[in-house]
Amino acid sequence: MTVRTRVAPSPTGDPHVGTAYIALFNMAFARNLGGQFILRIEDTDQARSTPESEQAILDSLKWLGLNWDEGPDVGGEFGPYRQSERTEIYRQHSQQLIDDGHAFHCFCTSERLDALRAEQMANKQTPGYDGHCAHLSKEEVQQRIDAGETHVVRMKIPSEGSCTVKDFLRDDIEIDWQQVDMQVLMKADGMPTYHLANVVDDHLMGITHVIRGEEWINSAPKHILLYQYFGWDMPVLCHMPLLRNPDKSKLSKRKNPTSINYYKRMGYLPEAVVNYLGRMGWSMPNEAEKFTLQEMIDNFDLSRVSLGGPIFDVEKLGWLNGGWLREDLSVDEFAERVKQWAFNPDYFMQIAPLIKERIEIFSDIAPLASFFCAGMLDISEQHFEHKTLEQEDCKRILQFTLWRLETEQDFSRDNLEAIIKHMSGIMGLKIRDYLFPLFIAIAGTNVSTSVFDSMTVLGPDLSRARLRHAVNVLGGLSKKQTKKWEKDYRAFV
Ligand code: GLU
Repeated sequence: MTVRTRVAPSPTGDPHVGTAYIALFNMAFARNLGGQFILRIEDTDQARSTPESEQAILDSLKWLGLNWDEGPDVGGEFGPYRQSERTEIYRQHSQQLIDDGHAFHCFCTSERLDALRAEQMANKQTPGYDGHCAHLSKEEVQQRIDAGETHVVRMKIPSEGSCTVKDFLRDDIEIDWQQVDMQVLMKADGMPTYHLANVVDDHLMGITHVIRGEEWINSAPKHILLYQYFGWDMPVLCHMPLLRNPDKSKLSKRKNPTSINYYKRMGYLPEAVVNYLGRMGWSMPNEAEKFTLQEMIDNFDLSRVSLGGPIFDVEKLGWLNGGWLREDLSVDEFAERVKQWAFNPDYFMQIAPLIKERIEIFSDIAPLASFFCAGMLDISEQHFEHKTLEQEDCKRILQFTLWRLETEQDFSRDNLEAIIKHMSGIMGLKIRDYLFPLFIAIAGTNVSTSVFDSMTVLGPDLSRARLRHAVNVLGGLSKKQTKKWEKDYRAFV
């Protein structure tokens, strides 16, 4: 049997370090055994998936050297590898489940489902679908479909007994069927849900080992049941421990930068990031701290994964990166990497027009433009002293801008200008005042190139990280303040 593994990201945001971590372990496992590693794009959530996010995921995995054998860009014999191009396949499979009596059409309105949920919560029952439409006659179903009634397809779940989930890294897990909801398989928009698409694709793409994050364990019973309904063999399931912040909470961008692009923009070496991710819950047989991707592949053993939550600590990554820089790059290679990072013509050509008008002699460039080649800026509370704004005002402007820009994909100059003008308007502040803390956060001084241009050049990851850093310099946000401000913020956006 040829081992086939996959990583199946949903293109709904920035490329996440968690995706790279899962990709790495899938790749190392498959390559170690001479198998194949596949990239599949799970873009069935049409409202949230974007082509930009997909491209960013592909680019960042490639930057890390985590190359796949089959995928949407390289093709392969089991394609297409983008779920939005496979809807007909899911429709047929959903129809097969309906014909075999394993799934049913459900016409319940969201009002009915909300009321049901509220009632179940009030009675301290596990919320879930009550089977209202499970036994409609074929004729009634057809009539209602013909009449154009909105509907979904749900899977049937046994009413008693339990499901045994076998996991490569764990003892068997028993989950009562009563805890499992009658999952929607096809949504009202005709798209499948994750569960149906994922199982159908894993089977049709010949995936032998499903190595994915621990957060999917609770979905395993539904998947196991779908394999049984279709009469297919199960792949081996292996749920990896989730990455954690140093305070042990689940890795989140509130506490740690999670976008791979951030690490690229900050100037980490891809080898060091891969090396660090390889140490998340895993170690080399000789316990070496520093190892290459190839060394990891050669020595990979999935059973060496330990389940204690691995901590993703940016400081440790920085330390490891320093080791790579000093010990593994010749001066020539070092110079070449630095050039690729930010001292390249493409990057300089974005900065040149911004500084050309503002200098008299070339030696004015470095002080004016150094923030374009920096990471977090060395700023303190004093930098935020202003004639009318209090520090709390500055913090509020920074935090509100950050929240707004966290959901923004379009970092073009004009769009940023429109957003920030709009924000200053609704907060009742003069644009000049509103821009002051942004200048400090982004450039370290308010005598600088336009903040909109600067953010466009720096890009979303570094711009957001600097805003977050500035909020922290001003004392950060307590839980209480976060709650209050989030409420205020939601009131105007
Ligand atoms: N699309 C899912 C995700 O974004 C894939 C989970 C899985 O690997 O089954 O994580």
